[in-house]
Amino acid sequence: MAFFTPKWYNTFGSCPLAVACGAYLETAPGAVLPQNPRILGSKTLRLAWETSRTTESEGEAGHLPHHTRYGAQRAGGRDREGESRMKIPVNCKLCPRECGSDRRTGIGFCGGGAQVKVARAALHFWEEPCISGKQGSGTVFFSGCPLKCCFCQNYTISAQNFGKEIPVSRLAEIFLELQEQGAHNINLVNPMHFAPWVAEALEQVRGKLKIPVVCNTGGYDKVQTLRMLEGYVDIYLPDLKYADSARAGRYSCAPDYFAVAQKAITEMVRQVGPPVFGPDGMLQKGVVIRHLALPHGVKDSIQVLQWIAQQFAKGEVLLSLMSQYTPFFRSGEFPEINRRISSYEYGKVLSYAAGLGLEGYCQEKSSAKEEYTPDFDLQGV
Ligand code: SF4
Repeated sequence: MAFFTPKWYNTFGSCPLAVACGAYLETAPGAVLPQNPRILGSKTLRLAWETSRTTESEGEAGHLPHHTRYGAQRAGGRDREGESRMKIPVNCKLCPRECGSDRRTGIGFCGGGAQVKVARAALHFWEEPCISGKQGSGTVFFSGCPLKCCFCQNYTISAQNFGKEIPVSRLAEIFLELQEQGAHNINLVNPMHFAPWVAEALEQVRGKLKIPVVCNTGGYDKVQTLRMLEGYVDIYLPDLKYADSARAGRYSCAPDYFAVAQKAITEMVRQVGPPVFGPDGMLQKGVVIRHLALPHGVKDSIQVLQWIAQQFAKGEVLLSLMSQYTPFFRSGEFPEINRRISSYEYGKVLSYAAGLGLEGYCQEKSSAKEEYTPDFDLQGV
């Protein structure tokens, strides 16, 4: 989950910081600055997932509804009487925590219970330009979170679980209301612990919702759960926070983060393919991988970038490199990250991304501002 200021660069090489810290360009293997940052509309790209996709067994999440995909079972969201077949997990394994909560009666480790919980649904203007555009992204903020990031800027809803429980039918209405307001897309922020509910709501608006659906996650997602949204989601916007398991354990209580996120992002790319833009420059389809540069994290950031470059063909995914880290929430308990990143650190990461030939977006260093976090006041809920 992340928010952006209007200050953007469309390529990494165009940011002055990348030039100022260009030493890393020399160390990146085969480093060449992109001459033409335009995204390849490539139908010919070989998808990396073909050789590396997960081997998670199909039956692992057997308690979950499999009817909710638009794809092979797109019309299968209803039984013969037209009633929903969505089932609330009784032994929840929707996310990698696999806490086993009976979601009908209890609250899971993520804070999720029997109903969808939402903190805000409104037009949002601080995502990447290809998501927010001029009219804004129709953003729905879900409460709770399976990750426990000590620096979460949305901690009031993620960790403290602020929000309002609503029925699936209301969530479906919200999607249509945001479309009516002129949203470029429906932007589901941190929805995966409510995946069956979200799929059901999207099923209810099938044929009425004409704008792309964006799934904005922390990257700590199970492949089986992502498959519940296959065919409903057009754009994935995952974080890829860490490669280092010690850092992932220390800051997000998830030492397995990188292994999980690698599989998840590969699955996302399998589902939606390479980026496709509309004539207005808005993203219609594809995966944008977000990486938030952290203090004392250059080495880890470089590992993250290396994996992206190795895993995906050029132009197959977009990278969004973020400088906006601000020590929110419990960051003070971790002195080494209890500050903003330096221009030198961010410049090194930017330069490395440019050297790898990755394409996408980056933020101006001054983007780290608390005022860009929206008020969670149940607007639109
Ligand atoms: S989604 Fe929530 S309830 Fe389900 S396994 Fe994960 S933490 Fe537990």
